[in-house]
Amino acid sequence: KNFVDMYEVSLRYGEDGDGTLALQDATMRVDSGEFVAVVGPSGCGKSTLMKVITGLWPPTKGGVIVGGKEVDRPLSITGMAFQNPTLLPWRTTLDNVMLPLEIVQPHAPKFRRERAAYETKARDLLALVGLKGFEDKFPWQLSGGMQQRASICRALIHDPSLLMLDEPFGALDMFTREELWLAMQDLWLARRPTVILVTHDLREAVFLADRIFVMSARPGRMIAERTVELPRPRA
Ligand code: ADP
Ligand code: ADP
Repeated sequence: KNFVDMYEVSLRYGEDGDGTLALQDATMRVDSGEFVAVVGPSGCGKSTLMKVITGLWPPTKGGVIVGGKEVDRPLSITGMAFQNPTLLPWRTTLDNVMLPLEIVQPHAPKFRRERAAYETKARDLLALVGLKGFEDKFPWQLSGGMQQRASICRALIHDPSLLMLDEPFGALDMFTREELWLAMQDLWLARRPTVILVTHDLREAVFLADRIFVMSARPGRMIAERTVELPRPRA
């Protein structure tokens, strides 16, 4: 049932083992379809944790199993969104959202054959986050919040079984941020990916997540885990 199983992970940066100890004995298990948040102060190792789980950086000790397989290379089953929307300025909203389909195996060959079907999917996702009518606009024609919505759609277009969100709402004003929480909740209820959200906004974690992992400052490790029980819409 555990979809993500990170066990006793320690990670020390640097070639000769004298760099920063960014993670120490961090353990985290996430069920399939669960939405968890990781909170902690700046520099506590949250981004490092994301890098380890997605296979971008090998741990010094311990390991990660995702979907029953040991992670030993970057995972293409993952969708990612960051604080910065990073849309390509020469592509429309729709084409930005479809970008992963062109490059992520095994979708790419199928995408070339069945572009129309995938385009419908991209439009559906954009409609879910309130971007109906903006499909053909370019990023610079959208507000910051709208660009971020599009980048979250892009992270979901290839139906990732794991969605990694690293402070995706951090750069937004309070009102836009709360709007996007609702959009994110709708997306999660509609698609049910396993989501790991990194944030230093505790309110955001409480609003969105089923469970919250708390990391301590130095060196980064999981110190507590709380289950959030709130009345929330369930599919
Ligand atoms: P957070 O995301 O919680 O702010 P990070 O995972 O980015 O924390 O960083 C944890 C610690 O590891 C920090 O002390 C940071 O300076 C250090 N660190 C992060 N990335 C690197 C890197 N590529 N090389 C060396 N040290 C790093
Ligand atoms: P944000 O905080 O999302 O950057 P802005 O102040 O840029 O917001 O925009 C405020 C609102 O104006 C947006 O939420 C959006 O509804 C609307 N808006 C922004 N850009 C456009 C646009 N190009 N066309 C239509 N409406 C827009």
